[in-house]
Amino acid sequence: MRVGILGGGQLGWMTILEGRKLGFDFFVLDPDPKAPASRVADRWFPPERVEEFIRECHVITYEFEHIEEEVLKKVYDLTTPSLSVLEVKRSRLEEKGFYRRRGYPTADFTYAGYEELERVVKDFGLPCVVKSERLGYDGKGQYRIYQQEDIKKVLSNHAPGERFLVERLIDFNFEFSIIGVRDAKGNTRLYPTTINYHERGVLLYNKSTSLKIKEAEEIVLSLMEDLNLVGLLAVEFFYTWDGRVLINELAPRPHNTGHYSLDACYTSQFENLLRAICGLPLGSTKLKASGGMVNLLGVSLEDFDLHRLLSIEGAKLYWYGKEKRPGRKMGHVNLVAHSEQEVEEKIEKLLEIIYHHEPS
Ligand code: ATP
Ligand code: MG
Repeated sequence: MRVGILGGGQLGWMTILEGRKLGFDFFVLDPDPKAPASRVADRWFPPERVEEFIRECHVITYEFEHIEEEVLKKVYDLTTPSLSVLEVKRSRLEEKGFYRRRGYPTADFTYAGYEELERVVKDFGLPCVVKSERLGYDGKGQYRIYQQEDIKKVLSNHAPGERFLVERLIDFNFEFSIIGVRDAKGNTRLYPTTINYHERGVLLYNKSTSLKIKEAEEIVLSLMEDLNLVGLLAVEFFYTWDGRVLINELAPRPHNTGHYSLDACYTSQFENLLRAICGLPLGSTKLKASGGMVNLLGVSLEDFDLHRLLSIEGAKLYWYGKEKRPGRKMGHVNLVAHSEQEVEEKIEKLLEIIYHHEPS
Protein backbone atom coordinates (compact mmCIF):
# COMPACT_ATOMS: atom_id res chain seq x y z
CA MET A 1 0.00 0.00 0.00
CA ARG A 2 1.03 3.56 -0.66
CA VAL A 3 -0.12 5.73 2.21
CA GLY A 4 -0.15 9.52 2.31
CA ILE A 5 -0.04 11.41 5.58
CA LEU A 6 -1.16 15.01 5.99
CA GLY A 7 1.15 16.48 8.59
CA GLY A 8 4.78 15.73 9.37
CA GLY A 9 4.71 15.53 13.17
CA GLN A 10 5.58 12.73 15.56
CA LEU A 11 2.22 10.99 15.10
CA GLY A 12 3.02 10.57 11.41
CA TRP A 13 6.58 9.55 12.30
CA MET A 14 5.36 6.70 14.50
CA THR A 15 2.74 5.67 11.94
CA ILE A 16 5.47 5.36 9.34
CA LEU A 17 7.86 3.46 11.63
CA GLU A 18 5.08 0.98 12.42
CA GLY A 19 3.85 0.80 8.82
CA ARG A 20 7.28 -0.01 7.43
CA LYS A 21 6.90 -3.40 9.10
CA LEU A 22 3.77 -4.00 7.03
CA GLY A 23 5.73 -3.23 3.87
CA PHE A 24 3.91 0.01 3.08
CA ASP A 25 5.31 3.10 1.34
CA PHE A 26 4.73 6.52 2.87
CA PHE A 27 4.33 10.04 1.49
CA VAL A 28 4.17 13.07 3.73
CA LEU A 29 2.68 16.49 2.99
CA ASP A 30 4.07 19.18 5.26
CA PRO A 31 5.75 22.55 4.74
CA ASP A 32 8.82 21.36 6.68
CA PRO A 33 11.14 18.76 5.10
CA LYS A 34 12.85 18.36 8.48
CA ALA A 35 9.64 17.51 10.39
CA PRO A 36 9.82 14.07 12.06
CA ALA A 37 7.58 12.25 9.56
CA SER A 38 8.98 14.12 6.52
CA ARG A 39 12.41 12.76 7.38
CA VAL A 40 11.38 9.09 7.43
CA ALA A 41 8.91 9.19 4.51
CA ASP A 42 9.70 7.68 1.12
CA ARG A 43 8.99 11.12 -0.29
CA TRP A 44 8.13 14.47 1.20
CA PHE A 45 5.94 17.09 -0.51
CA PRO A 46 5.28 20.72 0.43
CA PRO A 47 1.60 21.80 0.29
CA GLU A 48 2.14 23.52 -3.09
CA ARG A 49 2.81 20.10 -4.61
CA VAL A 50 -0.36 18.47 -3.27
CA GLU A 51 -1.37 17.17 -6.75
CA GLU A 52 1.88 15.23 -7.10
CA PHE A 53 1.44 13.92 -3.54
CA ILE A 54 -2.07 12.66 -4.35
CA ARG A 55 -0.82 10.79 -7.43
CA GLU A 56 1.53 8.72 -5.23
CA CYS A 57 -1.13 7.56 -2.75
CA HIS A 58 -3.70 4.77 -2.57
CA VAL A 59 -5.10 6.20 0.62
CA ILE A 60 -4.46 9.39 2.63
CA THR A 61 -4.78 9.91 6.37
CA TYR A 62 -3.92 12.78 8.71
CA GLU A 63 -2.00 13.22 11.92
CA PHE A 64 -2.87 16.87 12.40
CA GLU A 65 -6.24 18.64 12.42
CA HIS A 66 -5.39 22.09 11.24
CA ILE A 67 -4.76 21.38 7.58
CA GLU A 68 -5.13 24.23 5.05
CA GLU A 69 -8.54 24.50 3.35
CA GLU A 70 -6.93 24.46 -0.10
CA VAL A 71 -5.28 21.11 0.60
CA LEU A 72 -8.39 19.61 2.20
CA LYS A 73 -10.52 20.33 -0.86
CA LYS A 74 -8.09 18.48 -3.10
CA VAL A 75 -7.56 15.36 -0.98
CA TYR A 76 -11.22 14.92 -0.03
CA ASP A 77 -12.01 11.65 -1.81
CA LEU A 78 -8.92 9.71 -0.78
CA THR A 79 -8.85 10.68 2.88
CA THR A 80 -9.69 8.34 5.78
CA PRO A 81 -11.04 8.98 8.39
CA SER A 82 -13.33 11.01 6.15
CA LEU A 83 -12.95 14.75 6.21
CA SER A 84 -16.53 15.13 7.44
CA VAL A 85 -15.21 13.74 10.76
CA LEU A 86 -12.43 16.28 10.71
CA GLU A 87 -14.96 19.07 10.17
CA VAL A 88 -16.45 18.27 13.58
CA LYS A 89 -13.01 18.51 15.15
CA ARG A 90 -11.64 21.58 13.44
CA SER A 91 -13.91 23.93 15.33
CA ARG A 92 -14.35 23.54 19.09
CA LEU A 93 -17.82 25.08 18.70
CA GLU A 94 -18.79 22.53 16.06
CA GLU A 95 -17.48 19.72 18.25
CA LYS A 96 -19.35 20.75 21.39
CA GLY A 97 -22.50 21.47 19.38
CA PHE A 98 -22.29 17.93 18.00
CA TYR A 99 -22.18 16.46 21.54
CA ARG A 100 -25.15 18.57 22.59
CA ARG A 101 -27.29 17.71 19.55
CA ARG A 102 -26.60 13.99 19.91
CA GLY A 103 -27.04 13.95 23.69
CA TYR A 104 -23.45 13.07 24.65
CA PRO A 105 -22.42 14.21 28.13
CA THR A 106 -19.97 17.11 28.14
CA ALA A 107 -19.15 20.13 30.32
CA ASP A 108 -21.83 22.83 30.12
CA PHE A 109 -20.86 25.51 27.59
CA THR A 110 -21.82 28.51 25.51
CA TYR A 111 -20.31 30.46 22.60
CA ALA A 112 -19.08 34.03 22.31
CA GLY A 113 -17.59 36.35 19.72
CA TYR A 114 -14.61 38.50 20.70
CA GLU A 115 -16.73 41.61 21.12
CA GLU A 116 -19.27 40.05 23.51
CA LEU A 117 -16.87 37.75 25.39
CA GLU A 118 -16.80 39.81 28.59
CA ARG A 119 -20.57 39.96 28.84
CA VAL A 120 -21.12 36.30 27.95
CA VAL A 121 -18.60 35.11 30.54
CA LYS A 122 -20.25 37.30 33.15
CA ASP A 123 -23.67 35.79 32.40
CA PHE A 124 -22.27 32.25 32.19
CA GLY A 125 -20.61 32.46 35.60
CA LEU A 126 -17.14 31.81 36.99
CA PRO A 127 -14.91 29.88 37.09
CA CYS A 128 -14.88 28.87 33.44
CA VAL A 129 -12.48 28.01 30.65
CA VAL A 130 -12.35 30.09 27.47
CA LYS A 131 -11.01 28.24 24.43
CA SER A 132 -10.37 29.74 21.02
CA GLU A 133 -12.55 28.17 18.32
CA ARG A 134 -9.70 27.07 16.10
CA LEU A 135 -6.06 26.01 16.13
CA GLY A 136 -5.94 24.90 19.75
CA TYR A 137 -3.62 22.10 20.82
CA ASP A 138 -1.50 21.26 23.87
CA GLY A 139 -3.43 23.79 25.92
CA LYS A 140 -2.78 26.62 23.43
CA GLY A 141 -5.55 29.20 22.98
CA GLN A 142 -7.02 28.15 26.30
CA TYR A 143 -7.63 30.34 29.36
CA ARG A 144 -8.92 29.64 32.85
CA ILE A 145 -11.11 32.48 34.03
CA TYR A 146 -11.41 32.75 37.82
CA GLN A 147 -12.25 36.44 37.95
CA GLN A 148 -13.75 38.79 35.40
CA GLU A 149 -10.47 40.61 34.78
CA ASP A 150 -8.77 37.36 33.60
CA ILE A 151 -10.62 38.01 30.31
CA LYS A 152 -8.14 40.79 29.51
CA LYS A 153 -5.46 38.22 28.68
CA VAL A 154 -7.78 36.56 26.14
CA LEU A 155 -8.65 39.87 24.54
CA SER A 156 -5.02 40.95 24.25
CA ASN A 157 -3.94 37.60 22.73
CA HIS A 158 -6.75 37.44 20.17
CA ALA A 159 -8.36 39.71 17.59
CA PRO A 160 -11.85 41.07 16.93
CA GLY A 161 -13.92 38.69 14.83
CA GLU A 162 -12.62 35.54 16.57
CA ARG A 163 -15.02 33.17 18.26
CA PHE A 164 -14.66 31.30 21.54
CA LEU A 165 -16.04 28.39 23.47
CA VAL A 166 -16.90 29.26 27.07
CA GLU A 167 -16.96 26.11 29.16
CA ARG A 168 -17.56 25.23 32.80
CA LEU A 169 -14.29 24.62 34.68
CA ILE A 170 -14.66 21.01 35.82
CA ASP A 171 -13.28 20.04 39.20
CA PHE A 172 -12.56 16.48 38.13
CA ASN A 173 -11.43 13.50 40.17
CA PHE A 174 -9.26 12.29 37.27
CA GLU A 175 -8.90 12.46 33.51
CA PHE A 176 -8.89 9.41 31.30
CA SER A 177 -9.08 8.48 27.65
CA ILE A 178 -10.11 5.57 25.49
CA ILE A 179 -8.95 5.00 21.93
CA GLY A 180 -11.13 3.02 19.57
CA VAL A 181 -10.46 1.68 16.11
CA ARG A 182 -13.07 0.87 13.47
CA ASP A 183 -12.74 -0.60 9.98
CA ALA A 184 -14.87 -0.09 6.87
CA LYS A 185 -17.00 -3.12 7.69
CA GLY A 186 -17.87 -1.65 11.08
CA ASN A 187 -15.67 -3.98 13.16
CA THR A 188 -14.42 -2.23 16.26
CA ARG A 189 -11.89 -2.65 19.05
CA LEU A 190 -11.16 -0.54 22.09
CA TYR A 191 -7.79 0.05 23.68
CA PRO A 192 -7.59 -0.17 27.46
CA THR A 193 -8.52 2.95 29.41
CA THR A 194 -5.59 5.15 30.43
CA ILE A 195 -5.47 7.61 33.29
CA ASN A 196 -3.92 10.88 32.11
CA TYR A 197 -2.09 13.63 34.01
CA HIS A 198 -1.79 17.08 32.50
CA GLU A 199 0.35 19.97 33.57
CA ARG A 200 -0.59 23.45 32.35
CA GLY A 201 -2.98 21.93 29.81
CA VAL A 202 -0.37 19.53 28.35
CA LEU A 203 -0.24 15.77 28.88
CA LEU A 204 2.71 14.96 31.16
CA TYR A 205 2.23 11.23 31.68
CA ASN A 206 -0.36 8.46 31.51
CA LYS A 207 -0.78 4.83 32.43
CA SER A 208 -3.02 1.95 31.49
CA THR A 209 -5.55 0.76 34.01
CA SER A 210 -7.63 -2.37 34.40
CA LEU A 211 -10.47 -0.08 35.49
CA LYS A 212 -13.34 -0.44 33.03
CA ILE A 213 -15.65 2.53 32.73
CA LYS A 214 -18.54 0.96 30.85
CA GLU A 215 -20.35 4.21 30.13
CA ALA A 216 -17.26 5.71 28.51
CA GLU A 217 -16.59 2.61 26.43
CA GLU A 218 -20.14 2.78 25.11
CA ILE A 219 -19.69 6.46 24.27
CA VAL A 220 -16.57 5.72 22.21
CA LEU A 221 -18.28 2.89 20.31
CA SER A 222 -21.33 5.03 19.71
CA LEU A 223 -19.26 8.03 18.55
CA MET A 224 -17.37 5.89 16.03
CA GLU A 225 -20.69 4.66 14.69
CA ASP A 226 -22.29 8.13 14.64
CA LEU A 227 -19.31 9.57 12.78
CA ASN A 228 -19.17 6.52 10.50
CA LEU A 229 -15.48 6.58 11.26
CA VAL A 230 -12.88 4.37 9.63
CA GLY A 231 -9.62 4.67 11.55
CA LEU A 232 -8.82 5.72 15.10
CA LEU A 233 -10.91 7.75 17.49
CA ALA A 234 -9.38 8.97 20.74
CA VAL A 235 -11.79 10.38 23.30
CA GLU A 236 -10.63 12.35 26.34
CA PHE A 237 -12.90 12.31 29.39
CA PHE A 238 -13.28 13.90 32.80
CA TYR A 239 -14.40 11.70 35.69
CA THR A 240 -16.11 13.98 38.20
CA TRP A 241 -16.10 13.60 41.97
CA ASP A 242 -19.77 12.60 41.84
CA GLY A 243 -19.03 9.80 39.38
CA ARG A 244 -20.13 11.46 36.12
CA VAL A 245 -18.34 10.83 32.84
CA LEU A 246 -17.97 13.93 30.64
CA ILE A 247 -16.39 14.07 27.20
CA ASN A 248 -13.63 16.67 27.05
CA GLU A 249 -12.73 16.29 23.38
CA LEU A 250 -12.14 13.79 20.61
CA ALA A 251 -9.41 13.30 18.04
CA PRO A 252 -9.87 11.16 14.89
CA ARG A 253 -6.18 10.20 14.69
CA PRO A 254 -3.40 8.64 16.76
CA HIS A 255 -3.30 10.21 20.20
CA ASN A 256 -0.58 11.03 22.70
CA THR A 257 -2.34 8.91 25.34
CA GLY A 258 -2.00 5.88 23.04
CA HIS A 259 1.78 5.98 22.61
CA TYR A 260 2.21 3.35 25.34
CA SER A 261 0.48 0.88 22.95
CA LEU A 262 3.73 0.67 20.93
CA ASP A 263 5.23 -1.38 23.73
CA ALA A 264 2.39 -2.53 25.97
CA CYS A 265 -0.26 -3.77 23.50
CA TYR A 266 -0.45 -6.63 21.01
CA THR A 267 -1.00 -4.05 18.24
CA SER A 268 -0.08 -0.38 18.49
CA GLN A 269 -2.57 2.39 17.73
CA PHE A 270 -0.46 3.31 14.69
CA GLU A 271 -0.52 -0.17 13.19
CA ASN A 272 -4.25 -0.45 13.83
CA LEU A 273 -4.87 2.86 12.07
CA LEU A 274 -3.09 1.48 9.00
CA ARG A 275 -4.90 -1.85 9.20
CA ALA A 276 -8.26 -0.07 9.47
CA ILE A 277 -7.74 2.31 6.54
CA CYS A 278 -6.15 -0.34 4.30
CA GLY A 279 -8.78 -3.04 4.78
CA LEU A 280 -6.62 -5.42 6.84
CA PRO A 281 -7.98 -7.27 9.90
CA LEU A 282 -7.84 -5.17 13.05
CA GLY A 283 -5.15 -6.29 15.50
CA SER A 284 -5.75 -7.17 19.12
CA THR A 285 -5.69 -4.16 21.40
CA LYS A 286 -5.03 -6.23 24.51
CA LEU A 287 -2.27 -5.42 26.96
CA LYS A 288 0.86 -7.58 26.97
CA ALA A 289 1.93 -5.84 30.16
CA SER A 290 0.93 -2.81 32.21
CA GLY A 291 1.96 0.27 30.28
CA GLY A 292 2.74 3.90 30.83
CA MET A 293 4.29 6.90 29.14
CA VAL A 294 6.05 10.11 30.14
CA ASN A 295 6.29 13.03 27.71
CA LEU A 296 9.61 14.81 27.24
CA LEU A 297 8.41 18.43 27.28
CA GLY A 298 10.74 21.27 26.33
CA VAL A 299 13.93 19.31 27.06
CA SER A 300 16.91 18.29 24.96
CA LEU A 301 18.76 14.98 25.26
CA GLU A 302 21.51 16.76 27.20
CA ASP A 303 19.10 18.04 29.85
CA PHE A 304 18.72 14.74 31.66
CA ASP A 305 20.70 11.63 32.52
CA LEU A 306 19.95 9.37 29.56
CA HIS A 307 21.99 6.51 31.01
CA ARG A 308 19.93 6.48 34.19
CA LEU A 309 16.73 6.72 32.19
CA LEU A 310 17.59 3.80 29.93
CA SER A 311 18.67 1.72 32.92
CA ILE A 312 15.04 1.47 34.06
CA GLU A 313 13.79 -1.96 33.09
CA GLY A 314 11.12 -1.64 30.39
CA ALA A 315 11.82 2.04 29.60
CA LYS A 316 12.05 2.92 25.91
CA LEU A 317 12.95 6.27 24.46
CA TYR A 318 11.20 7.80 21.43
CA TRP A 319 13.02 10.97 20.37
CA TYR A 320 11.30 12.95 17.63
CA GLY A 321 14.28 15.04 16.54
CA LYS A 322 12.49 18.41 16.66
CA GLU A 323 13.94 21.78 17.42
CA LYS A 324 13.72 22.55 21.14
CA ARG A 325 11.12 25.09 22.31
CA PRO A 326 9.72 25.69 25.79
CA GLY A 327 7.05 23.12 26.63
CA ARG A 328 7.25 21.45 23.20
CA LYS A 329 6.72 17.69 22.92
CA MET A 330 10.27 16.61 22.07
CA GLY A 331 9.85 12.89 22.64
CA HIS A 332 8.41 10.42 25.10
CA VAL A 333 9.42 7.42 27.15
CA ASN A 334 7.30 4.29 27.15
CA LEU A 335 7.24 1.93 30.10
CA VAL A 336 6.13 -1.62 30.61
CA ALA A 337 5.98 -3.52 33.88
CA HIS A 338 4.30 -6.47 35.55
CA SER A 339 1.78 -4.39 37.48
CA GLU A 340 0.12 -0.97 37.50
CA GLN A 341 1.88 -0.29 40.79
CA GLU A 342 5.26 -0.98 39.21
CA VAL A 343 4.43 1.32 36.27
CA GLU A 344 3.59 4.08 38.75
CA GLU A 345 6.91 3.64 40.53
CA LYS A 346 8.77 3.83 37.24
CA ILE A 347 6.84 6.95 36.21
CA GLU A 348 7.92 8.61 39.45
CA LYS A 349 11.50 7.66 38.79
CA LEU A 350 11.30 9.03 35.24
CA LEU A 351 9.78 12.33 36.37
CA GLU A 352 12.59 12.68 38.84
CA ILE A 353 15.24 11.94 36.20
CA ILE A 354 13.71 14.20 33.52
CA TYR A 355 12.20 17.06 35.52
CA HIS A 356 13.72 16.49 38.95
CA HIS A 357 10.31 16.35 40.58
CA GLU A 358 7.67 14.01 41.93
CA PRO A 359 4.35 13.57 40.09
CA SER A 360 1.65 16.02 41.17
P1 ATP B 1 -4.49 18.54 23.66
O1 ATP B 1 -4.42 18.78 22.20
O2 ATP B 1 -3.14 18.43 24.32
O3 ATP B 1 -5.38 17.42 24.07
P2 ATP B 1 -6.08 20.89 23.83
O4 ATP B 1 -5.32 22.14 23.65
O5 ATP B 1 -6.89 20.37 22.73
O6 ATP B 1 -5.10 19.82 24.35
P3 ATP B 1 -8.04 20.38 25.90
O7 ATP B 1 -7.93 18.92 25.79
O8 ATP B 1 -9.35 21.01 25.67
O9 ATP B 1 -6.98 21.18 25.04
O10 ATP B 1 -7.53 20.81 27.35
C1 ATP B 1 -6.25 20.44 27.82
C2 ATP B 1 -6.35 20.13 29.30
O11 ATP B 1 -6.82 21.29 30.04
C3 ATP B 1 -7.38 19.06 29.63
O12 ATP B 1 -6.86 17.76 29.43
C4 ATP B 1 -7.67 19.39 31.10
O13 ATP B 1 -6.62 18.97 31.93
C5 ATP B 1 -7.70 20.89 31.07
N1 ATP B 1 -9.08 21.35 30.79
C6 ATP B 1 -9.61 21.65 29.58
N2 ATP B 1 -10.91 22.01 29.67
C7 ATP B 1 -11.22 21.94 30.98
C8 ATP B 1 -12.42 22.18 31.74
N3 ATP B 1 -13.55 22.58 31.17
N4 ATP B 1 -12.37 21.99 33.08
C9 ATP B 1 -11.21 21.60 33.68
N5 ATP B 1 -10.07 21.36 33.03
C10 ATP B 1 -10.04 21.52 31.71
MG1 MG C 1 -7.02 17.49 24.96
